[in-house]
Amino acid sequence: MRYAMAIDTKKCVGCSDCVVACQKENNVPDGFCREWVVESVSGTYPSLELEYRSERCHHCDNSPCVRCCPTGASHIEEGGVVLVTHDKCIGCGACVASCPYDSRYPHPDGYIDKCTFCIHKVRKGEQPACVEVCPTNCLYFGDLDDPNSEVSRKVKERKYKRLKTEAGTDPQLYFLI
Ligand code: SF4
Ligand code: SF4
Ligand code: SF4
Repeated sequence: MRYAMAIDTKKCVGCSDCVVACQKENNVPDGFCREWVVESVSGTYPSLELEYRSERCHHCDNSPCVRCCPTGASHIEEGGVVLVTHDKCIGCGACVASCPYDSRYPHPDGYIDKCTFCIHKVRKGEQPACVEVCPTNCLYFGDLDDPNSEVSRKVKERKYKRLKTEAGTDPQLYFLI
């Protein structure tokens, strides 16, 4: 089992409904986020291309945030999901500094927080909140080890890119291009 997410940049319209759903589902405090949308322009005038990317923690296979955590609060759970045990976290911020994607933030309650792939919903057989609300259905979450899962099929059928692979983190967000 290897949970992963594919994000179709050709279908994303940058509405940020996913961000709002994430804030609400996970009680993310005002001024912080587990998820955000990047607007990226490439090419040269007049052939400019606009890309929207819904971004969050990449649940890296080789995660520096887990390696550097002095208390074991940051850890890997079933399906490769990277989580933080709140009561083991001392808020030192080593993981925040080690993440090449700026995926973590300091929660006002004293621990470090980030995307959990909504594992509390996934364990109940539901989809992550961001996936559920996306009006263009451009987010695909599931088991990459299952060749019949939608995320597997998208990654197999489409061209994709992963971000900052030079950091050696083996990120598990696949941006379909
Ligand atoms: Fe893109 Fe879907 Fe998020 Fe809207 S809800 S920004 S279309 S990923
Ligand atoms: Fe850790 Fe950052 Fe990778 Fe998430 S994106 S697993 S916080 S290194
Ligand atoms: Fe937020 Fe859950 Fe989506 Fe992660 S999977 S960005 S925690 S809604």
